[in-house]
Amino acid sequence: MYEAERSRLVKGLRSQGYVTDERVLEAMGRVPRHEFLPPELKGQAYVDSPLPIGMGQTISAPHMVGIMLEALELRPGHRVLEIGAGSGYHAALMGELVRPGGKVYTVERLESLGSAAKEVMERLGYDDVVEVMIADGSIGLPEHAPYDRITVAAAAPSVPTPLEEQLADGGRMLVPVGGQGYQDLMLVTRNGDRLERTGLGGVVFVPLIGQHGYQD
Ligand code: SAH
Repeated sequence: MYEAERSRLVKGLRSQGYVTDERVLEAMGRVPRHEFLPPELKGQAYVDSPLPIGMGQTISAPHMVGIMLEALELRPGHRVLEIGAGSGYHAALMGELVRPGGKVYTVERLESLGSAAKEVMERLGYDDVVEVMIADGSIGLPEHAPYDRITVAAAAPSVPTPLEEQLADGGRMLVPVGGQGYQDLMLVTRNGDRLERTGLGGVVFVPLIGQHGYQD
């Protein structure tokens, strides 16, 4: 279902210059975004807009997802950590990009969203490559560290130290940093003991709530 709408959206992301990486565009052409939305919003799945997914949380607009996927430079075999599984859409796309041989661990603090994301992974056949866990991801996920890529889907007051520690040598991390309402999307890269931070531009994400985020 929705194949024509999905391919129109992907064409738009390419022609508007948001995404140039063909692997990212292909993955976005394959993953059915409507399957990650509440029933009443499925009809809007292929409009380039953020949408509510319940519990006051949102699924990012497709162009933002595409920009983040491109900046992450995901390759087959990568071990990836995502903080803020939400609907699971971004995690499924990353699953496509790290196959074969890779693994995506995605952490969600809200039980109801996490279990829905887990279910959709099983239904769509991503459960071999994507593992959904319920926990405070602001402390990272030490048991599977280090990660080649880390992506944070919620706004942090500063780059959470545990996440920097869990980033592999040569690794890349994306994290929105700033106040609640407007943040800078930071790219953190690790070269041995050296961490480098680059701001990629202004973004708006829901708050990261937890030990190394904002308080509840
Ligand atoms: N990537 C998601 C969008 C997530 S919205 C998607 O594709 O749908 C951000 C999510 O981060 C919300 O679901 C929120 O509950 C979650 N979140 C906020 N703080 C968190 C924390 N400390 N650990 C894990 N998840 C967190």
